[in-house]
Amino acid sequence: MLNVLFSARDGLWGVYEEPLRKAFASRNLSINLQPDFSDPELVHYIVYGPTGPLQDFTPYSNAKAVLNLWAGVERLVKNPTLTIPLTRMVDTGLREGMVEYVTAHVLRHHLDTDRQVLNQNGVWDVVIPPLARDRTVAVLGLGALGEACARQLATLNFNVLGWSRRQKKLDGVSCFCGEDGLREVLSKSDIVVLLLPLTDGTANILNADTLALLPEGAAIVNPGRGALIDDDALLAALGSGQVGAATLDVFRQEPLPAEHPYWHNPKVTVTPHIASETRPETASEIIADNIHRNENGEPMRFLVDRSAGY
Ligand code: NDP
Repeated sequence: MLNVLFSARDGLWGVYEEPLRKAFASRNLSINLQPDFSDPELVHYIVYGPTGPLQDFTPYSNAKAVLNLWAGVERLVKNPTLTIPLTRMVDTGLREGMVEYVTAHVLRHHLDTDRQVLNQNGVWDVVIPPLARDRTVAVLGLGALGEACARQLATLNFNVLGWSRRQKKLDGVSCFCGEDGLREVLSKSDIVVLLLPLTDGTANILNADTLALLPEGAAIVNPGRGALIDDDALLAALGSGQVGAATLDVFRQEPLPAEHPYWHNPKVTVTPHIASETRPETASEIIADNIHRNENGEPMRFLVDRSAGY
Protein backbone atom coordinates (compact mmCIF):
# COMPACT_ATOMS: atom_id res chain seq x y z
CA MET A 1 0.00 0.00 0.00
CA LEU A 2 1.37 3.40 -1.05
CA ASN A 3 0.49 6.49 0.97
CA VAL A 4 -0.13 9.48 -1.29
CA LEU A 5 -0.58 12.93 0.19
CA PHE A 6 -2.71 15.42 -1.77
CA SER A 7 -1.54 18.90 -0.81
CA ALA A 8 -3.12 21.84 -2.59
CA ARG A 9 -5.22 24.90 -1.89
CA ASP A 10 -8.67 24.53 -0.36
CA GLY A 11 -11.30 23.18 -2.72
CA LEU A 12 -9.04 21.13 -4.99
CA TRP A 13 -9.28 17.93 -2.94
CA GLY A 14 -12.98 17.70 -3.81
CA VAL A 15 -12.15 18.15 -7.50
CA TYR A 16 -9.24 15.70 -7.71
CA GLU A 17 -10.12 12.94 -5.24
CA GLU A 18 -12.36 10.92 -7.53
CA PRO A 19 -10.33 11.21 -10.78
CA LEU A 20 -7.14 10.31 -8.92
CA ARG A 21 -8.71 7.28 -7.23
CA LYS A 22 -10.04 6.17 -10.63
CA ALA A 23 -6.65 6.60 -12.32
CA PHE A 24 -4.82 4.70 -9.55
CA ALA A 25 -7.39 1.89 -9.69
CA SER A 26 -7.04 1.57 -13.46
CA ARG A 27 -3.34 0.80 -12.94
CA ASN A 28 -4.02 -1.62 -10.09
CA LEU A 29 -2.10 0.66 -7.74
CA SER A 30 -3.00 0.05 -4.11
CA ILE A 31 -3.06 3.63 -2.83
CA ASN A 32 -4.07 5.28 0.41
CA LEU A 33 -4.80 8.80 -0.89
CA GLN A 34 -5.41 11.47 1.79
CA PRO A 35 -5.27 15.27 2.08
CA ASP A 36 -3.45 14.85 5.40
CA PHE A 37 -1.35 12.25 7.20
CA SER A 38 -0.79 12.51 10.93
CA ASP A 39 2.73 11.12 10.47
CA PRO A 40 4.57 12.70 7.50
CA GLU A 41 7.09 9.87 7.54
CA LEU A 42 4.39 7.50 6.25
CA VAL A 43 4.03 9.46 2.98
CA HIS A 44 5.46 7.87 -0.20
CA TYR A 45 4.36 10.43 -2.83
CA ILE A 46 3.10 14.01 -2.70
CA VAL A 47 0.62 15.30 -5.29
CA TYR A 48 1.17 19.01 -5.05
CA GLY A 49 -0.67 22.23 -5.94
CA PRO A 50 1.79 25.12 -5.62
CA THR A 51 -0.74 27.50 -4.11
CA GLY A 52 -1.23 25.11 -1.16
CA PRO A 53 0.19 25.60 2.34
CA LEU A 54 2.97 22.97 2.23
CA GLN A 55 6.38 24.67 2.01
CA ASP A 56 8.64 22.55 4.20
CA PHE A 57 9.18 19.08 2.75
CA THR A 58 11.74 18.06 5.39
CA PRO A 59 9.31 16.01 7.53
CA TYR A 60 8.41 13.83 4.49
CA SER A 61 11.65 11.94 4.80
CA ASN A 62 10.37 8.76 3.10
CA ALA A 63 8.68 10.46 0.14
CA LYS A 64 9.96 9.33 -3.26
CA ALA A 65 8.72 12.18 -5.47
CA VAL A 66 6.60 15.32 -5.62
CA LEU A 67 4.15 15.39 -8.54
CA ASN A 68 3.14 18.93 -9.41
CA LEU A 69 -0.38 19.59 -10.68
CA TRP A 70 0.74 22.70 -12.54
CA ALA A 71 3.02 23.13 -15.56
CA GLY A 72 4.95 25.99 -13.93
CA VAL A 73 7.30 25.06 -11.09
CA GLU A 74 8.92 28.41 -10.30
CA ARG A 75 7.54 28.36 -6.73
CA LEU A 76 9.00 24.92 -6.03
CA VAL A 77 12.19 24.62 -7.97
CA LYS A 78 14.33 26.62 -5.56
CA ASN A 79 12.78 25.20 -2.37
CA PRO A 80 15.85 23.96 -0.42
CA THR A 81 13.74 21.45 1.56
CA LEU A 82 12.69 19.66 -1.64
CA THR A 83 15.50 17.27 -2.55
CA ILE A 84 13.55 14.36 -4.10
CA PRO A 85 12.52 14.18 -7.80
CA LEU A 86 9.92 16.74 -8.91
CA THR A 87 7.65 16.27 -11.92
CA ARG A 88 5.59 18.98 -13.61
CA MET A 89 2.27 18.69 -15.37
CA VAL A 90 2.10 18.05 -19.09
CA ASP A 91 -1.40 17.02 -20.05
CA THR A 92 -3.57 17.12 -23.12
CA GLY A 93 -6.22 19.25 -21.37
CA LEU A 94 -3.67 21.95 -20.52
CA ARG A 95 -2.28 21.86 -24.05
CA GLU A 96 -5.64 22.07 -25.81
CA GLY A 97 -6.80 24.92 -23.57
CA MET A 98 -3.61 26.89 -24.24
CA VAL A 99 -3.81 26.37 -27.99
CA GLU A 100 -7.38 27.72 -27.96
CA TYR A 101 -6.49 30.76 -25.83
CA VAL A 102 -3.41 31.67 -27.85
CA THR A 103 -5.12 31.15 -31.20
CA ALA A 104 -8.10 33.27 -30.14
CA HIS A 105 -5.96 36.19 -28.98
CA VAL A 106 -3.53 36.05 -31.88
CA LEU A 107 -6.46 36.07 -34.32
CA ARG A 108 -8.06 38.92 -32.42
CA HIS A 109 -4.93 41.06 -32.76
CA HIS A 110 -4.32 39.91 -36.33
CA LEU A 111 -7.85 40.72 -37.52
CA ASP A 112 -8.17 43.76 -35.24
CA THR A 113 -11.49 42.35 -34.14
CA ASP A 114 -11.88 45.04 -31.47
CA ARG A 115 -12.27 47.63 -34.22
CA GLN A 116 -15.68 46.15 -35.05
CA VAL A 117 -16.67 44.84 -31.63
CA LEU A 118 -16.01 48.09 -29.79
CA ASN A 119 -16.93 50.59 -32.52
CA GLN A 120 -20.62 50.05 -33.33
CA ASN A 121 -21.02 53.74 -34.08
CA GLY A 122 -22.83 53.95 -37.42
CA VAL A 123 -19.61 54.50 -39.39
CA TRP A 124 -19.02 52.07 -42.33
CA ASP A 125 -15.31 51.79 -41.60
CA VAL A 126 -13.74 49.49 -44.20
CA VAL A 127 -10.26 48.30 -43.21
CA ILE A 128 -9.20 44.98 -44.74
CA PRO A 129 -6.80 43.04 -42.50
CA PRO A 130 -3.80 41.31 -44.04
CA LEU A 131 -3.85 37.55 -44.49
CA ALA A 132 -2.16 35.37 -41.90
CA ARG A 133 0.53 34.57 -44.48
CA ASP A 134 1.56 38.22 -44.29
CA ARG A 135 1.74 38.31 -40.50
CA THR A 136 4.68 37.10 -38.42
CA VAL A 137 4.01 35.61 -35.01
CA ALA A 138 6.74 34.76 -32.50
CA VAL A 139 6.29 32.03 -29.95
CA LEU A 140 8.90 32.38 -27.19
CA GLY A 141 9.18 28.97 -25.53
CA LEU A 142 8.71 25.83 -27.62
CA GLY A 143 7.94 23.33 -24.88
CA ALA A 144 4.80 21.27 -24.35
CA LEU A 145 2.57 24.34 -24.75
CA GLY A 146 4.58 26.62 -27.01
CA GLU A 147 5.23 23.93 -29.60
CA ALA A 148 1.52 23.05 -29.83
CA CYS A 149 0.58 26.72 -30.21
CA ALA A 150 3.29 27.34 -32.81
CA ARG A 151 2.14 24.35 -34.84
CA GLN A 152 -1.50 25.48 -34.71
CA LEU A 153 -0.61 29.03 -35.78
CA ALA A 154 1.44 27.60 -38.63
CA THR A 155 -1.56 25.59 -39.83
CA LEU A 156 -3.50 28.88 -39.98
CA ASN A 157 -0.80 30.09 -42.37
CA PHE A 158 0.92 32.58 -40.05
CA ASN A 159 4.63 33.00 -40.57
CA VAL A 160 5.68 31.50 -37.23
CA LEU A 161 9.04 32.06 -35.57
CA GLY A 162 9.88 30.01 -32.47
CA TRP A 163 12.54 30.61 -29.82
CA SER A 164 13.80 28.17 -27.22
CA ARG A 165 16.88 27.57 -25.05
CA ARG A 166 18.15 24.74 -27.22
CA GLN A 167 17.84 24.69 -30.99
CA LYS A 168 14.65 22.98 -32.19
CA LYS A 169 13.36 21.77 -35.51
CA LEU A 170 9.60 22.00 -36.13
CA ASP A 171 7.82 21.63 -39.44
CA GLY A 172 6.34 24.94 -40.55
CA VAL A 173 8.08 26.94 -37.81
CA SER A 174 11.40 28.79 -38.18
CA CYS A 175 13.27 28.02 -34.99
CA PHE A 176 15.84 30.19 -33.22
CA CYS A 177 17.76 30.10 -29.96
CA GLY A 178 20.28 32.25 -28.10
CA GLU A 179 20.42 35.98 -27.58
CA ASP A 180 20.99 36.81 -31.24
CA GLY A 181 18.12 34.52 -32.14
CA LEU A 182 15.83 36.40 -29.76
CA ARG A 183 16.79 39.74 -31.27
CA GLU A 184 16.14 38.46 -34.77
CA VAL A 185 12.79 36.96 -33.81
CA LEU A 186 11.58 40.08 -32.01
CA SER A 187 12.69 42.42 -34.76
CA LYS A 188 10.46 40.57 -37.27
CA SER A 189 7.36 39.79 -35.21
CA ASP A 190 3.99 41.53 -35.38
CA ILE A 191 2.62 39.43 -32.51
CA VAL A 192 4.68 37.89 -29.70
CA VAL A 193 3.37 35.01 -27.59
CA LEU A 194 5.19 34.27 -24.32
CA LEU A 195 5.17 30.62 -23.28
CA LEU A 196 8.41 30.51 -21.34
CA PRO A 197 8.76 29.25 -17.78
CA LEU A 198 9.83 31.82 -15.20
CA THR A 199 13.53 31.23 -14.43
CA ASP A 200 16.62 33.34 -13.78
CA GLY A 201 17.22 33.23 -17.54
CA THR A 202 13.75 34.41 -18.57
CA ALA A 203 12.71 36.99 -15.94
CA ASN A 204 12.09 40.39 -17.58
CA ILE A 205 12.89 38.97 -20.98
CA LEU A 206 10.60 41.60 -22.43
CA ASN A 207 12.14 44.84 -21.17
CA ALA A 208 12.81 48.32 -22.56
CA ASP A 209 15.66 47.03 -24.77
CA THR A 210 13.86 44.00 -26.20
CA LEU A 211 10.51 45.78 -26.64
CA ALA A 212 12.36 48.42 -28.68
CA LEU A 213 13.32 45.71 -31.19
CA LEU A 214 9.70 45.02 -32.14
CA PRO A 215 8.12 46.54 -35.24
CA GLU A 216 6.07 49.55 -34.14
CA GLY A 217 2.56 48.62 -32.99
CA ALA A 218 3.32 44.93 -32.32
CA ALA A 219 1.00 43.00 -29.99
CA ILE A 220 1.99 40.90 -26.97
CA VAL A 221 0.12 37.84 -25.69
CA ASN A 222 1.42 36.61 -22.33
CA PRO A 223 -0.03 33.42 -20.86
CA GLY A 224 3.47 32.43 -19.55
CA ARG A 225 4.29 34.21 -16.29
CA GLY A 226 3.89 37.85 -15.26
CA ALA A 227 7.54 38.41 -14.37
CA LEU A 228 8.62 37.57 -17.93
CA ILE A 229 7.72 41.20 -18.65
CA ASP A 230 9.11 44.38 -17.11
CA ASP A 231 5.73 46.01 -16.42
CA ASP A 232 6.98 49.60 -16.41
CA ALA A 233 8.72 49.05 -19.73
CA LEU A 234 5.58 47.55 -21.27
CA LEU A 235 3.40 50.42 -20.01
CA ALA A 236 5.88 52.89 -21.48
CA ALA A 237 5.94 51.01 -24.80
CA LEU A 238 2.14 50.97 -24.90
CA GLY A 239 2.14 54.70 -24.16
CA SER A 240 4.55 55.50 -26.99
CA GLY A 241 2.79 53.21 -29.48
CA GLN A 242 5.84 50.94 -29.79
CA VAL A 243 3.51 48.18 -28.55
CA GLY A 244 -0.02 48.43 -29.93
CA ALA A 245 -1.84 45.99 -27.65
CA ALA A 246 -1.25 43.41 -24.95
CA THR A 247 -3.28 40.47 -23.74
CA LEU A 248 -2.00 39.52 -20.30
CA ASP A 249 -3.14 36.43 -18.40
CA VAL A 250 -0.46 36.27 -15.71
CA PHE A 251 0.98 38.88 -13.35
CA ARG A 252 3.65 39.40 -10.71
CA GLN A 253 0.87 39.72 -8.17
CA GLU A 254 -2.30 37.64 -8.59
CA PRO A 255 -5.09 38.57 -8.35
CA LEU A 256 -3.94 41.72 -10.15
CA PRO A 257 -4.64 44.60 -7.69
CA ALA A 258 -7.68 46.69 -8.68
CA GLU A 259 -5.56 49.86 -8.87
CA HIS A 260 -2.96 48.35 -11.24
CA PRO A 261 -2.56 50.47 -14.41
CA TYR A 262 -3.08 47.42 -16.62
CA TRP A 263 -6.77 47.35 -15.67
CA HIS A 264 -7.23 50.93 -16.86
CA ASN A 265 -5.14 50.88 -20.02
CA PRO A 266 -7.40 50.60 -23.10
CA LYS A 267 -4.65 48.77 -25.00
CA VAL A 268 -4.41 46.03 -22.38
CA THR A 269 -6.73 43.05 -21.98
CA VAL A 270 -6.43 41.41 -18.58
CA THR A 271 -7.57 37.81 -18.25
CA PRO A 272 -7.46 36.29 -14.74
CA HIS A 273 -4.95 33.45 -15.22
CA ILE A 274 -7.44 31.39 -17.17
CA ALA A 275 -5.44 30.73 -20.34
CA SER A 276 -5.34 27.05 -19.53
CA GLU A 277 -6.20 24.96 -16.52
CA THR A 278 -4.97 21.52 -15.50
CA ARG A 279 -7.89 19.17 -16.21
CA PRO A 280 -8.43 16.68 -13.36
CA GLU A 281 -9.29 13.63 -15.48
CA THR A 282 -6.30 13.81 -17.83
CA ALA A 283 -3.92 15.14 -15.16
CA SER A 284 -4.81 12.29 -12.81
CA GLU A 285 -3.82 9.82 -15.52
CA ILE A 286 -0.39 11.49 -15.77
CA ILE A 287 0.10 11.37 -11.97
CA ALA A 288 -0.96 7.71 -11.73
CA ASP A 289 1.20 6.78 -14.69
CA ASN A 290 4.27 8.42 -13.14
CA ILE A 291 3.80 6.69 -9.76
CA HIS A 292 3.25 3.41 -11.59
CA ARG A 293 6.45 3.96 -13.56
CA ASN A 294 8.50 4.80 -10.49
CA GLU A 295 7.21 1.77 -8.60
CA ASN A 296 8.19 -0.40 -11.57
CA GLY A 297 11.69 1.03 -11.82
CA GLU A 298 10.93 2.99 -15.00
CA PRO A 299 11.94 6.64 -15.37
CA MET A 300 9.20 9.13 -14.49
CA ARG A 301 8.07 11.52 -17.25
CA PHE A 302 8.24 15.30 -17.14
CA LEU A 303 10.97 15.50 -14.51
CA VAL A 304 12.02 19.04 -13.66
CA ASP A 305 15.64 19.91 -14.41
CA ARG A 306 16.56 21.78 -11.21
CA SER A 307 19.66 23.36 -12.72
CA ALA A 308 17.70 24.76 -15.68
CA GLY A 309 14.85 25.83 -13.37
CA TYR A 310 11.98 24.22 -15.30
P1 NDP B 1 8.11 23.50 -21.02
O1 NDP B 1 9.06 23.35 -19.89
O2 NDP B 1 7.60 22.31 -21.73
O3 NDP B 1 8.75 24.45 -22.13
C1 NDP B 1 9.49 25.57 -21.80
C2 NDP B 1 10.08 26.16 -23.09
O4 NDP B 1 10.77 27.36 -22.74
C3 NDP B 1 11.10 25.22 -23.73
O5 NDP B 1 11.01 25.31 -25.13
C4 NDP B 1 12.43 25.81 -23.26
O6 NDP B 1 13.52 25.59 -24.12
C5 NDP B 1 12.10 27.29 -23.24
N1 NDP B 1 13.02 28.01 -22.38
C6 NDP B 1 13.25 27.84 -21.06
N2 NDP B 1 14.21 28.68 -20.63
C7 NDP B 1 14.60 29.39 -21.71
C8 NDP B 1 15.57 30.39 -21.92
N3 NDP B 1 16.34 30.86 -20.93
N4 NDP B 1 15.71 30.88 -23.17
C9 NDP B 1 14.96 30.42 -24.20
N5 NDP B 1 14.02 29.47 -24.06
C10 NDP B 1 13.85 28.96 -22.83
O7 NDP B 1 6.89 24.37 -20.45
P2 NDP B 1 5.36 24.36 -20.91
O8 NDP B 1 5.31 24.60 -22.36
O9 NDP B 1 4.65 23.20 -20.35
O10 NDP B 1 4.83 25.65 -20.11
C11 NDP B 1 5.39 26.93 -20.32
C12 NDP B 1 4.89 27.88 -19.24
O11 NDP B 1 3.53 28.21 -19.46
C13 NDP B 1 4.88 27.29 -17.82
O12 NDP B 1 6.18 27.32 -17.24
C14 NDP B 1 3.94 28.24 -17.11
O13 NDP B 1 4.67 29.34 -16.63
C15 NDP B 1 2.99 28.71 -18.23
N6 NDP B 1 1.62 28.20 -18.06
C16 NDP B 1 0.60 29.11 -17.95
C17 NDP B 1 -0.71 28.68 -17.83
C18 NDP B 1 -1.82 29.68 -17.76
O14 NDP B 1 -2.98 29.31 -17.56
N7 NDP B 1 -1.56 30.96 -17.94
C19 NDP B 1 -1.05 27.27 -17.79
C20 NDP B 1 0.09 26.39 -17.93
C21 NDP B 1 1.37 26.86 -18.06
P3 NDP B 1 14.02 24.09 -24.44
O15 NDP B 1 13.00 23.52 -25.41
O16 NDP B 1 15.34 24.30 -25.07
O17 NDP B 1 14.05 23.37 -23.12
